[in-house]
Amino acid sequence: MSAIDALLPLIEGIRTETHPKAIQAKSRDFYWYSPVLKRKLDHITADLIVCPVSEDEVLRVLKACCGLNIPVTPRGAGTGNYGQAMPLAGGVVMDLRGLDAIKDIKDGSIICGAGALMGDLDTACRAKGQELRLHPSTKETATIGGFIAGGSGGVGSMRWGVLRDPGNILAVRVATMEDEPKIVTLTGRDVMQVHHAYGVNGIITEVEFALAPAVDWVEMLIAGSDWLALNDLADRMAHMDGLWIKELGTVQAPAPHKYYLRHRKFLTEDESVIVTMAAPNAVAWMETLSAEIGARIAYRSDQASAEDLRSLPHVHHLMWNHTTLRALRVEPAITYLQVGFPNPGRHDKIRKIAAMFSTDEVMGHNEFFRGDGSITCAGLTLVRFTTEARLWEIVKAHEDIGCATFSPHHYTVEEGGMKTTDPLHLDVKRRHDPKGLLNPGKMIGWEDPSFDYADHYAYPGMMPAPEPTE
Ligand code: FAD
Repeated sequence: MSAIDALLPLIEGIRTETHPKAIQAKSRDFYWYSPVLKRKLDHITADLIVCPVSEDEVLRVLKACCGLNIPVTPRGAGTGNYGQAMPLAGGVVMDLRGLDAIKDIKDGSIICGAGALMGDLDTACRAKGQELRLHPSTKETATIGGFIAGGSGGVGSMRWGVLRDPGNILAVRVATMEDEPKIVTLTGRDVMQVHHAYGVNGIITEVEFALAPAVDWVEMLIAGSDWLALNDLADRMAHMDGLWIKELGTVQAPAPHKYYLRHRKFLTEDESVIVTMAAPNAVAWMETLSAEIGARIAYRSDQASAEDLRSLPHVHHLMWNHTTLRALRVEPAITYLQVGFPNPGRHDKIRKIAAMFSTDEVMGHNEFFRGDGSITCAGLTLVRFTTEARLWEIVKAHEDIGCATFSPHHYTVEEGGMKTTDPLHLDVKRRHDPKGLLNPGKMIGWEDPSFDYADHYAYPGMMPAPEPTE
């Protein structure tokens, strides 16, 4: 009898999905943004999908899987980009979307199940005059638990910083993977134990997340033909404390005209853009500042026709990794980099990158945000993929001029981030998941502490790829 056959009676009454197509669909995330991950992970599939709807059901599943040594990979909505929610060793994918209850909306925070969709949370908060401080551009489709376990920041980070900034994630309840699993409540600094750990050291079941006063944001595209001048303007706007801005990023020509199909009518081919969401009281000043450098307001939602408001996507669906998605839909060869710009000196780097590459191959996309109290900027640079060797050359060229890169072409926490294991995450994994059954293969520090990062990590427990068919 297989371990899965032995599992099924132990979790009777909890919804499972067994159809191979359903299993395959929930064994995937947006790993295919990376041609490298597509090659490496395309064959990955779980053996069973389990869909608990309460903390008690989560604990029952974990106890049964722990006893049978079955790996469990938590999954929110599967919108992560790096194969984060893909079950490299097979086993169970735990779909947490059933834990979606809103338990309380207080003055300044919401308490909810980890599987709640952020769009639903935002709608509920808006009914009470509040909104989520920050959310990924996948607000409508991604879960708050997946954001905390796999994401970093996004729309709203311009004002409120990123998830790791104190005051944004207020508390989490986490289920452990032990013979007798338990719920641990983490508050204050302790929430960092599970933030951006890809679920390798606990299953988040409930979250308390900070809110901000709701604003009727004006969405704008500010267009100009000088890419460097637009970045400089965005940077200055980001530093102006009087401008209340939720989203501020830049995208280099020809990408906006080429990939923003429904906004194309507002733009010309040679125009780069600032994409922004600003409070109504900031708009006039932003218009003045734009005119001062010869840029123009190409679109503003508060002056849009009823037809445009109905048919155009919101501008948060043009930014963060939605920029990559828009580009991929037009040109499947597009992929991207994640680039950290040093400060001071980011303008020099943006200028150097623009000079080093043709826009036939590399197009700038920068997001401004607040981090550790100061304005910073990260690139989600668009790259027209040719070969893996050329992709790594482009990455190296960025690093050679002093830009850190955070790889979206690796599936481990470490290689996608600081290229070292977070000792806090590892220590918590030892306590919460002593058998190493949660999302195996994602934390190098657990499997191979001596790994030196000169090479690309290959998880030895990964299920073998099928033989190619003729
Ligand atoms: P999943 O993809 O299901 O999971 C993400 C990770 O968290 C996985 O490792 C999974 O195992 C783990 N996990 C999920 N739920 C739990 C849980 N309850 N407990 C423990 N571990 C769990 N990310 C950003 O940070 N900012 C952005 O602006 C952004 N924009 C995006 C745009 C597009 C078009 C796409 C495709 C992705 C984008 N992302 C962004 C990545 C992703 O959408 C977000 O990180 C999102 O919040 C993930 O939520 P999810 O529910 O889909 O999580």
